[in-house]
Amino acid sequence: MEGVQVGSRDLRRMDHLTWPEFQERLNQAVFVLPLGATEQHGYHMPLGVDVFLPLHLALRVADAFPAVIAPPLAYGYKSQPKSGGGGLFPGTTSLDGATLTASVRDFVRELSRQGQKSIVILNGHMENSLFASEGVDLALRELSGQEIKVVSINWWEHVGDDLLDRLFPEGFPGWEAEHAGLTETAMMMHFLPDLVVADRLEANEDHKPIPQYAIAPEPPGLVPASGVLHQAHGASAEKGAALANFLVNEIVQILRTEFPTLAR
Ligand code: ZN
Ligand code: MN
Repeated sequence: MEGVQVGSRDLRRMDHLTWPEFQERLNQAVFVLPLGATEQHGYHMPLGVDVFLPLHLALRVADAFPAVIAPPLAYGYKSQPKSGGGGLFPGTTSLDGATLTASVRDFVRELSRQGQKSIVILNGHMENSLFASEGVDLALRELSGQEIKVVSINWWEHVGDDLLDRLFPEGFPGWEAEHAGLTETAMMMHFLPDLVVADRLEANEDHKPIPQYAIAPEPPGLVPASGVLHQAHGASAEKGAALANFLVNEIVQILRTEFPTLAR
């Protein structure tokens, strides 16, 4: 439950620091922006999964590498049917691409304006990727000549195939179909078990193939009624812990490679 208590001060979190504490951490740590979405995640998980996972991974990373975790961006680019269930589910509340791009651009520019040179974007929502890249690119264009490095990480791209084979011998559906499926459910069971309604996993029996092309306007009924694109049976807190430990280690290795002068 680390990092979710509102009452206890957590010095890994930028929003818990006083301004002099923030100032002291500038260029002594990487600043990490967790990037998420507010999006349906089936009958068994809440709308915030794509925010909670990068936030909690980032907090764990901050135990092993000097890092300050910025308040996450809790909205993301529009959910697509084949990777997030689409925009028709109640609760899925999305940004236009231009809004997301501008938000990421402004975050990078604001930290740079204060002198921070090392920034990480840790993304938890597939549809965000290129709009976030565009935000970073626009910020760097404006900041040309200033010393800055921004590293963008999509967590799911760093889960090893060996680990997936070992954890999910019954088969892994591929990352687009993974929405609210095995890995997200397992890591939520590990980080925030109170937010997973385990007995509702059994309700996700209505899986069906989803067209691998886009249709606009989005037709109703394209995706399973549950919103889960693949069965989440087979997820467990133990598997979530294994995934989280693996990913934290991978991300720390990336930071040691890219920001060697900050490494402890
Ligand atoms: Zn998700
Ligand atoms: Mn998503």
